[in-house]
Order: sequence, then structure tokens, then C-alpha cells
Amino acid sequence: MNSTGLVRPLDLNRLPGVHAVVSTAEGRSAERPLAGNLSYRVGDDPAQVRKNRDALFALIGATEDVLATPDQVHSASIRWVDQPGRHEECDGLMTRTPGLALGVTIADCVPVLLADPVRGVVAAVHAGWRGSAERIVQKAVAEMVSTAGSDPHEIRAYIGHAAGACCYEVGGEVADRFHDGVRHVRQGRIFLDLKAENRNQLLAGGLRESHITLGPECTICSPRLHSYRRDGARSGRMMAVILRRER
Ligand SMILES: [Zn+2]
Repeated sequence: MNSTGLVRPLDLNRLPGVHAVVSTAEGRSAERPLAGNLSYRVGDDPAQVRKNRDALFALIGATEDVLATPDQVHSASIRWVDQPGRHEECDGLMTRTPGLALGVTIADCVPVLLADPVRGVVAAVHAGWRGSAERIVQKAVAEMVSTAGSDPHEIRAYIGHAAGACCYEVGGEVADRFHDGVRHVRQGRIFLDLKAENRNQLLAGGLRESHITLGPECTICSPRLHSYRRDGARSGRMMAVILRRER
């Protein structure tokens, strides 16, 4: 992480032509609850949001103009895209278009960035509990295999910071959608490990264990991360972004 609180997942960034970055809320305090916020929709000063976004895109040698985002409706839909802008009714994007940045907005849900350096495919997926229950990440891998001819053994994945099993309490109706291995019961309360769930789906999709990296922090209990669960609708938002350049 550098001084602006931007994290560059090493395993992705050392692939030829792949640039990936995940933001944090570095500098967040009672006086600056929205530090590092990247959303124009939470009441933050737009000039400050722009500045935060510029810093993020500068790190990957791009600008906000090349950003494509899914509209994040808690679905399990993934789309192939070749244009920037907001793409409707989906929670994951994938592309083979060099120079197009794919980004998902996060504040507790799991961001997963994928790259196949052989086929030149990158993907960004937003996996909340609904998307995770419907196995959106495993679907993304299957789509890379069936459409782009990816070999799952070549795909690298970064699972970014999200609500952790330490804090992410869910009700029985949500917990019932998941296997025991990712549900933790403590004093009669159920906590879900969504990062582990998504890692399991990547393994089920054929990825090598050594090709999957997990961001260790929990958004809810780390003061340097934004959390919707902790701070409510006006919480800041972070982003996970990936792009590939022509070699
Ligand atoms: Zn926690």
C-alpha cells in the first residue's frame, strides 16, 4: 500500500500487461469519515471524489474515462464488454479489450479480480451474499473457459477486502444458502465467511490454490476501510479495478 491507501495486488500486477488496484479509506477519522471515497452518490464533495479517482487511475496509467462498471444489482449476471460506462443488470464484467478498465464498487461485498494472461482476459466481479449464493465467481470462470478458451490453471484471482467472518453476522435464511464450512456459529449467532466462499468457488472452477490471493482485512472492523454495514447508507465506497494493456 502507498501513502494514498491504494493497494496493488502483486500476483496480478506481475502478469504481463495487467494492472490492478484496490482502494481503501486510508486517513478515515471522525472528522473525515469519507476519506478515499470514490462514489459520487454518498454526499461527498464531487471535486474530492474526482481527486481520489484520479489518484487511483494514475496508479494504473489510465483515467476515469476508460472505466466500465456493472450497475451491481446483486445478481449473478456477468457481461462481456468492450466499452466504458455503466453496464445494466449485472454484477460482473469481463473483457479482452486492451485499455478498458473494469471496476466494481465495494463496501462489505466481495470484489474479485480475475486475469488470464494467456488469453488476455480480465474480469471484475462484485459478490455480495446473493451473488455468492448464486455462484457468480464460478460462473465468471466458466464463462472465461467457454467463451475465451481460458485454461482455469492459467487464471489468477485476487479476492479483495470485504466483510469478514469476524463481523459479518447473517440471519438463518441467508446462512441456509451456504455450506457449513463458511458458516461460523458463535454464541448462537451466525457469521458468514464470504471471502472463503468465493475462494472455494474459484477452486471448484479449476483455479490453482497458489493462483488465488485474499485481501486479509475485514471492512467492518478495520477503521481504514469503508463499511456499509458499520456506517450505513452514507458510508464511503471503495473500488477494485483491473485493466490489461496490449503487450
Ligand atoms: Zn471484522
